Amino acid sequence: MVDKNDLQDEVTCSMVAIAASYFFTRRRCGIGVRLRQIVQIGLVVFSVVCGSMVAVYAEPIGAFAQKGALAIVDVHNHLNRDMSAQQLIDLMDNAGVSRMVLMPRDFGGRRSGGSGSDTQALEYAKSYPGRFIPFVAGQRDELDQRGRWLNPDRQAESLLSTMETELNSQQFYGIGELIIRHYAFEGGRERDIPVDTPLMRRFADLAAHHEVPLLIHAEGEPDVVAGMKQVLETHPKTRIIWAHNCGRSSSEIIRGMLATFLNLSCDLGGMLNAPFAPYGRYWPKQTPWMFLIEDGSGNLLPEMKALYEAFPNRFFLGTDHAFTPSLRQYPRRIERFRELLSGLKPETARRLAFQNAEELFHKSEK
Ligand SMILES: [Zn+2]
Repeated sequence: MVDKNDLQDEVTCSMVAIAASYFFTRRRCGIGVRLRQIVQIGLVVFSVVCGSMVAVYAEPIGAFAQKGALAIVDVHNHLNRDMSAQQLIDLMDNAGVSRMVLMPRDFGGRRSGGSGSDTQALEYAKSYPGRFIPFVAGQRDELDQRGRWLNPDRQAESLLSTMETELNSQQFYGIGELIIRHYAFEGGRERDIPVDTPLMRRFADLAAHHEVPLLIHAEGEPDVVAGMKQVLETHPKTRIIWAHNCGRSSSEIIRGMLATFLNLSCDLGGMLNAPFAPYGRYWPKQTPWMFLIEDGSGNLLPEMKALYEAFPNRFFLGTDHAFTPSLRQYPRRIERFRELLSGLKPETARRLAFQNAEELFHKSEK
């Protein structure tokens, strides 16, 4: 999500090469001119090899998963004020993405790319019919306060009323992303709100009433898992999408919860173990409850592959571009998802790529 982090691994090799080159160029390093030249040539070769390592080790994309053969619906993406509809459409067209969920990030602050809004998401959907799937924003400054979730105040009531009006228009297809347990990264915020709160129950009721999914970000710590179970159990008619492979939980936990709660799905928003994606690595920190889905080379880990094959109807893909500059990584994220899909049975890959999303959002198309 953060530019600097995205680039970090990619430039490390080159930085080492440049630093070493500088050292050997200095007169006082104590080696002869000829040897210095040989070392410098070697460093240039090393740098080039580093730069191409990603391409060398990338998994091939299976014929059935290639652009043109497999449309993708991007179920976890965001909207900032400075993202233009045309920019998004161009990225989608080039990557073979048919539709995109827009979850506005209605935040003030300088780093937000300008506050996105529900109105903006709706405008984009109207400008490009069938391409954008607007959600009612869950990322809002007013939901930053823990106390509001525990004791909904007048502002919470006002927000619920606004959301109700928007959903009554039947032009919004979900609510999210609600940020409940979120680790702080450089320049970002830490959020630690209990999952099962009076305000969450109101959102769950609202989503059920309008037959739209509720998309929740909550890292799968033990109390979060317990809270999610509580909400799922008490709101069986609410379709809940638990972001980032169900809070980056273990395959065992996800398997157990999918078997128990038929109203639960997981999205794979940004879950790529690569320097160009946010959530598929131990980022911004590692915890004992955090599990990856791929090996860093485009291969699904065996336990996750088995999970997706066992529950092919319960997962969605998503690129999760929270910050506008990260959109330059859009083609790579989609391509990496195509590599991962190549490891699944073609029918499972089609489910994750677009069929599950088409069924979910078709159901709510009035
Ligand atoms: Zn998220």
